[in-house]
Amino acid sequence: MILDGLALSKQLRIELKERVDRLRERGVVPRLDVIVAAQDPASVAYVNMKRKWAAAAGIEGEYFEVSDTTSQDELIEQIYKLNGNSRVHGVLLQHPLPKHLDEDAALLALGSEKDVDGITPQSLGRLTAGLPGFRCATPLGITKILDHYNIDCTGKRALVIGRSHILGKPMALMLLERNATVTIAHSKTLDLADRCREADILVAAVGRAEMIKGDWIKPGATVIDAGYNKVEGRKGDVGDVHFESAVEVAGAITPVPGGVGPMTVTSLLMNAVEAAEKTIS
Ligand code: NAP
Repeated sequence: MILDGLALSKQLRIELKERVDRLRERGVVPRLDVIVAAQDPASVAYVNMKRKWAAAAGIEGEYFEVSDTTSQDELIEQIYKLNGNSRVHGVLLQHPLPKHLDEDAALLALGSEKDVDGITPQSLGRLTAGLPGFRCATPLGITKILDHYNIDCTGKRALVIGRSHILGKPMALMLLERNATVTIAHSKTLDLADRCREADILVAAVGRAEMIKGDWIKPGATVIDAGYNKVEGRKGDVGDVHFESAVEVAGAITPVPGGVGPMTVTSLLMNAVEAAEKTIS
């Protein structure tokens, strides 16, 4: 079974537009503002795509550029302004910021209330403690794929490869919430291929093109490929899983593109609309 994240995201964005229409009827225009490094073409491209989908769903937003000349104080001041602006419901700090800026301090300043990307230490703490809050967009999108395709995690062995704050760690916690027995692998993990072969649910969040081959996968397993990697001489993005060999063995698998990526953006927008709904509920 191919887990079609693009088709699911289209369906969810139609439902999202209906929620936005209802909010607008009540005088609330959902607004997601973005802070992005203007000199990073990849970041600008991702943000433009997010803004396009946001606009299609009726979500507005301002765009704040940071550059080599932006000081840390200016960045923090901008975040405080957005925190204090009641017309702004969500704020996205697009990673990476320019190197001279302290991204951790910026995320701490943002806090959890408007962190619709779910990546601030406060939001991650809420996830860890099992408290309500915005969940990290990429793993949240993955759980929506699992739910949509009725993939039950209870009692299953799940392996998450990658332990970043934005993906691997929150993914592991969300699978744990769904009663999977979770292992996290990383660059120091020994016998990774053997660990993969034990997994009923395998989430690849590594950033290495086609590292996970078909013969690493347990027959019938669910394989979620969160990776997108640029490979010289190849068009578009390439996943962390070698799709052609994995699709022969897996029970269910996400493609790249058209799997996790569109669900990440959709989950971010869903969180932003939820933030707007909270202002009137
Ligand atoms: P990251 O911060 O670079 O983390 C990568 C993780 O993979 C690290 O924990 C690292 O281990 C581990 N790793 C690296 N090489 C490994 C190896 N040979 N064997 C086992 N583990 C290894 O990356 P990220 O931000 O989490 O992103 C991961 C991938 O997801 C990238 O391809 C990225 O483009 C993609 N991504 C996709 C979306 C989406 O919407 N689809 C969103 C965000 C990211 P150590 O901790 O030991 O270094």
